[in-house]
Amino acid sequence: MPSMEQCPEIREEIRKLCRKYPDEYWRKLDKDDEYPEHFVQELTDAGWLAALIPEQYGGSGLTVREASVILEEVNRSGGNAAACHAQMYIMGALLRHGSDEQKARYLPKIASGDIRLQAFGVTEPNAGSDTTQLETFARRDGDYYIVNGAKIFISRVQHSDMMLLLARTTPAAECPKKTLGLSVFLVDLQEAGDAVEVRKIDAMINHETNQLFFHDLKIPKANLIGEEDRGFYYILDGMNAERILVGDESIGDARWFIDRAVKYGKERVIFGRPIAQNQGIQFPLAQAYAQTEAADLMRFRAAELFDTSQACGPEANMAKLLCAQAAWAAANAALDTHGGYGFAAEYDVERKFRECRLFSIAPISNNMILNYVAEHVLGMPRSY
Ligand SMILES: Cc1cc2nc3c(=O)[nH]c(=O)nc-3n(C[C@H](O)[C@H](O)[C@H](O)COP(=O)(O)OP(=O)(O)OC[C@H]3O[C@@H](n4cnc5c(N)ncnc54)[C@H](O)[C@@H]3O)c2cc1C
Repeated sequence: MPSMEQCPEIREEIRKLCRKYPDEYWRKLDKDDEYPEHFVQELTDAGWLAALIPEQYGGSGLTVREASVILEEVNRSGGNAAACHAQMYIMGALLRHGSDEQKARYLPKIASGDIRLQAFGVTEPNAGSDTTQLETFARRDGDYYIVNGAKIFISRVQHSDMMLLLARTTPAAECPKKTLGLSVFLVDLQEAGDAVEVRKIDAMINHETNQLFFHDLKIPKANLIGEEDRGFYYILDGMNAERILVGDESIGDARWFIDRAVKYGKERVIFGRPIAQNQGIQFPLAQAYAQTEAADLMRFRAAELFDTSQACGPEANMAKLLCAQAAWAAANAALDTHGGYGFAAEYDVERKFRECRLFSIAPISNNMILNYVAEHVLGMPRSY
């Protein structure tokens, strides 16, 4: 248990809500590969997913620091906020770069949950981590853009009404800079019909993620966010908030693993004494705890900078890296502590073990964060 918890009132409310969704709920969903619809709806109805939407649009206008505590507590309860975390932050592109008309039209409905905007279409099979190499093309045709191409690992599409799409609007060869030529669009998934073909990917975790194929998808020009060709910057702009918010889910996971393992270790008696009396059990958990507390400080430091409109690229990136590493250290320590029972689904450790591993890879891999720190913080030559 950390010595001083930030935002205790928010934590208490989320804990109360999460108690209605115990281990069995998440375990069954995992087994049946189903979406946590009831949980997400209740979180939405209580207004928690509208935390970052300003009050003038019907949200609660909370800070990233406060929002981060909401997601942390979901994961700390044994749940998985990745099913809905994007509803909290994808709208940031619309909020910061959308027109007044777009904001007035969509934000109140996103805040109320009438519109789920929780699909984010960036990654492509041929571009991977190199977003500047996206190929999906949006060709201007009168008052519309016509989109063709493919995306991969696009999550929650089947539980979203709208998707934020990053697509190329100028061929790469004609762009003065490789970060130009991409644009951001709001796609109405209901209206799109067959023009967006969705193929679910059978994945390691219960996370609805998909391959998408665009067949002459028509997007009204009115759904372009900001200026044409500047979309890469708009996406980049939202990434610091995303890094911090994903980092706190890892903190929640880490604390869940440590709590469970400490409890189990004290109860499990082998060789006539609790296994937690052995340093081989204690040290990895103590190490993971220290890593978690350190990562937590970086996460709040990044959030504080973000919330006071200060540059926070290094802190947000390091927070995401350190939080993911802390969660993974805690996951391994918890698995070892549980011995064979760590593999039994009924203990939930194996499920959380799989789930927490995602954050070392997505939304950005730890390697790319190390690249960022090496190049932009330490000033070393770009390695790729
Ligand atoms: C479950 C899941 C959900 C996802 N949801 C979404 C979503 O909703 N929307 C979306 O747009 N994307 C989503 N993604 C995609 C995710 O963001 C990408 O998987 C991630 O960015 C890495 O891209 P890649 O898989 O193509 O890996 P690659 O780019 O092929 O990289 C593979 C490995 O090589 C390493 N690597 C590559 N280049 C370098 C380099 N220069 N230096 C050091 N290491 C390097 C990477 O770090 C990584 O470890 C999701 C992925 C998963 C698994």
